[in-house]
Amino acid sequence: MYRTKTCGELRLANVGESVTLSGWVQRTRKMGGMTFADLRDRYGITQLVFDESKDEALCERANRMGREWVVQVTGEVSERQSKNRNLPTGDVEIIVSELNVLNESITPPFTIEEQSDGGDDLRMKYRYLDLRRPNVRRNLELRHKFAFEVRRYLDEQGFMEIETPVLVNSTPEGARDFVVPSRMNPGQFYALPQSPQTLKQLLMVAGMDRYFQIVKCFRDEDLRADRQPEFTQIDCEMSFVEQEDILQTFEGMSRHLFKAILGIDIPTLPRMTWADAMKYYGSDKPDTRFDMKFVELMDVLKGTGEFSVFNEAEYIGGICCEGQAVYTRKQLDQLTDFVRRPQIGAKGLVYARVGEDGSVKSSVDKFYSPEVLDNLKEAMNAKPGDLILIISGPDTLKARKQLCELRLEMGSRMGLRPKDKFSCLWVIDFPMYEWSDEEQRLMAMHHPFTSPKPEDIPLLDTDPASVRANAYDMVINGVEVGGGSIRIHDAKLQQKIFEILGFTPEQAQQKFGFLMNAFKYGAPPHGGLAYGLDRFVSLFAGLDSIRDCIAFPKNNSGRDVMLDAPGPIDQSQLDELKLKVDLSEE
Ligand code: ASP
Repeated sequence: MYRTKTCGELRLANVGESVTLSGWVQRTRKMGGMTFADLRDRYGITQLVFDESKDEALCERANRMGREWVVQVTGEVSERQSKNRNLPTGDVEIIVSELNVLNESITPPFTIEEQSDGGDDLRMKYRYLDLRRPNVRRNLELRHKFAFEVRRYLDEQGFMEIETPVLVNSTPEGARDFVVPSRMNPGQFYALPQSPQTLKQLLMVAGMDRYFQIVKCFRDEDLRADRQPEFTQIDCEMSFVEQEDILQTFEGMSRHLFKAILGIDIPTLPRMTWADAMKYYGSDKPDTRFDMKFVELMDVLKGTGEFSVFNEAEYIGGICCEGQAVYTRKQLDQLTDFVRRPQIGAKGLVYARVGEDGSVKSSVDKFYSPEVLDNLKEAMNAKPGDLILIISGPDTLKARKQLCELRLEMGSRMGLRPKDKFSCLWVIDFPMYEWSDEEQRLMAMHHPFTSPKPEDIPLLDTDPASVRANAYDMVINGVEVGGGSIRIHDAKLQQKIFEILGFTPEQAQQKFGFLMNAFKYGAPPHGGLAYGLDRFVSLFAGLDSIRDCIAFPKNNSGRDVMLDAPGPIDQSQLDELKLKVDLSEE
């Protein structure tokens, strides 16, 4: 037996016991005739003591132990003279009588202590060492518990976990696919699923009325902090349900997760229409941890003074930052630089400070009468000491997005976005379509299988861009953690939606015939949603990047630097697959 106890569990109550522990040597210290070592395993750290006066040979062997050696020790648990308050096991130590080196280690590229050390790339290259760190390990523990509680809740609700294939076909719409060549079908390719969307709908046709799966999905997109080329969804689908049934069921799941994992009771989730989310927050995933809603100022500032920027604007909107009139000129210049950054793209920023006497001093004073500035103060509901920030532009959507970035920035600066505060909501009534400048056509905002709101169906022929969908997202702290829709289950309506998306009947049949044919065999009304497990867990763990809750993540270029993947394959493999690689364009 390698061990009788773990390194994290010994306490004063164990004093006097003889125990055997196995683990990694985190560090050793020699003090006089004594050698101390920190022994670490998944559960914690225990101090080992080797006493030269008791066993000189043993102590000498202990002195040879290097960082990250794997050892087994036997000894007696004893009370520590100088307690270590930072460790749960800090009251005790092991007076070692036997040492067995199980494996030596070469010097690790960074030390495995709590604090991060070593650059990102180095940590990723040696991820198995990085994972020995307690903070990274804790994220994986949380992830495990999260997935476990998801399964527990959904099982109790009668959901069945069903696996769907990873080698599927390439479908248009959505992101780029990862493809896999087929040796047995030369010149043909599988695609890895971007989500099991159509498969779960087929499971509904098959009568599996409550399905879920914790499943890997693959999208060949540009990467960001909250995106990985492969990520995990909690994918769910239900039959014989309306939107309300789905919202209730999954609000219940979120409530269960918050309670079981964080011990937090969350209130009933408010519901906000997509139109309101855009109007008041400039985003379909508003961070509602704080208020600072947008106020539209077209009536107040357009045409009421000589400021041509506002007079020509299609949108003028402001936010009121409570108590921030103390912002200095320099800080305001910094904010202006912030909104001018290319990623945000605003032309400039107008500000107005409300003085303690209620007077308004703004950067556009000379263009407006005191009455107009007073109207501004009133419209913004600004109090003495508040700072009003205003963005305008020739394009409402763009200007709102810029104001959204500014609102988030101010929220962060004002400490209104703490990671341990959670604000959840449903965003509902998304539009069916959005215009794509790139493709010069309407694209499905969610996906092509989403049903329109029944009352908007007549608009499909006359004004498709204004049709609303039975689609919903769950948003927490400005992060879209999940989203879904009630699906179309009528083959004819599905055909029409494909047409609006620009597919000819033949193309639609070729790409989605399998689904439309299935719908002809009695498809039940159905709907569902999928959560991004990595994002949800990162929120619970207070992480900035989803990478930190993934055991072996990829970097921003989509590389696994530990495995050195992707990489070339042998010519013989290419030949077998009948593939030729041509890099001449590179
Ligand atoms: N399959 C969808 C997605 O990946 C979610 C859903 O509609 O259920 O976004």
